[in-house]
Amino acid sequence: MTQPSLDLVIAALEKIREKSDHAPRASRTALARLQADPTGGSLPEACTSPTERYLQAPNKADLLAAVRERVGACTKCAHLACSRTQTVFGVGNPDADLMFIGEAPGADEDQQGEPFVGRAGQLLTRILKAMNFAREDVYIANILKCRPDMQAGSFGNRPPTPTEMQTCRPYLMEQVEIIQPTVLVALGAVAVEGLLGTRATMRELRGRWHTYNNIPLMITYHPAYLLRNQAPSEKRKVWEDMLQVMERLERPISERQRNYFL
Ligand code: SF4
Repeated sequence: MTQPSLDLVIAALEKIREKSDHAPRASRTALARLQADPTGGSLPEACTSPTERYLQAPNKADLLAAVRERVGACTKCAHLACSRTQTVFGVGNPDADLMFIGEAPGADEDQQGEPFVGRAGQLLTRILKAMNFAREDVYIANILKCRPDMQAGSFGNRPPTPTEMQTCRPYLMEQVEIIQPTVLVALGAVAVEGLLGTRATMRELRGRWHTYNNIPLMITYHPAYLLRNQAPSEKRKVWEDMLQVMERLERPISERQRNYFL
């Protein structure tokens, strides 16, 4: 592709990104083609155009892929490395404005290698839909990348220990640093403890803004809590927290959404 054509493509993509709720997407092959140097060699920075410098900027997806590879081989918690089916790194848009953080993979996530795919995950997807987001628009990750092990014969999931969270947290920090979301949402008290090292009740934490590395952080209940406690008042609390998130992201909010109950 010639330089003027490339400039037009980049300008169009930037316009879509500014005006649309969805970031423009391209396949890896398309990106590779765009990134291929049409001159056949590298130029000194002074000779490169803004477009070339834009294309040479680190790609968030590639940076995340490098962290994912390290996580996949991680054995820092020997007991979890032995018991996991696979690591559960994170999923979603590397350029997301909104990033959700949960505590740890459960049995379903351990099997599928993706966070929030069980019943709680399906509820999170419904909450996102009510906010006019698709799952692919946001980024979802957990503090812990391996499922907390369970004693033989026991069922369900256990919360991660403080030591496990402290050991794994650097990976999440890298994810946040790469993605640089506009807003973070921590789901549940365990995620808050893993993220901020703060132990407090959800009553004290939720519904107001906190910060993590200068990024606004909203704390709300974990969807699993809503599955256990179906009281409309609790569902409404989570939805009010999400309305605050939408306001912070300057997303349009309809009257129907304002009055919505999960
Ligand atoms: S929980 Fe995190 S730190 Fe521990 S083994 Fe898994 S990936 Fe490594």
